[in-house]
Amino acid sequence: MSEQAPAPSRIKPPMGHDNAWWWEQAAAGKLVIQRCSQCQALRHPPRPMCNKCQSLEWDFIDASGTGTVCSFTVLHHPQFPGYDYPLVIVLVDLAEGTRYTSQLIDCDPDDVDFGMAVEMVMHIDPDGFKLPMFRPSQAGGS
Ligand SMILES: [Zn+2]
Repeated sequence: MSEQAPAPSRIKPPMGHDNAWWWEQAAAGKLVIQRCSQCQALRHPPRPMCNKCQSLEWDFIDASGTGTVCSFTVLHHPQFPGYDYPLVIVLVDLAEGTRYTSQLIDCDPDDVDFGMAVEMVMHIDPDGFKLPMFRPSQAGGS
């Protein structure tokens, strides 16, 4: 047993056959949404079968990266190394119509509100791991 503490690092998401492709796109700097090839329904998180038509055929589209806050929660504890607290976790209604759970950054937790316009910003961990996050929309600002 090692007593040496590992370097703080973000907890990596589980990746398997059904979602590794999505993380490969994120690693390339893109937020993408899985789309059913048969009925065109969008879905997230990635899964092998369309829940509308049961088709196993799919491709994906690039998300615009804009959306609004559908719901949110502010986490103060427990505090894991590698994260900045408090953490604002948001459920974002993407402009494309699917929902995406993410972290909201560059925003005071007291300023978060339902329906707030947000935009995607690609977060990059010190080890190079990329994770799409959101921040208050800068559109219209000067
Ligand atoms: Zn379908």
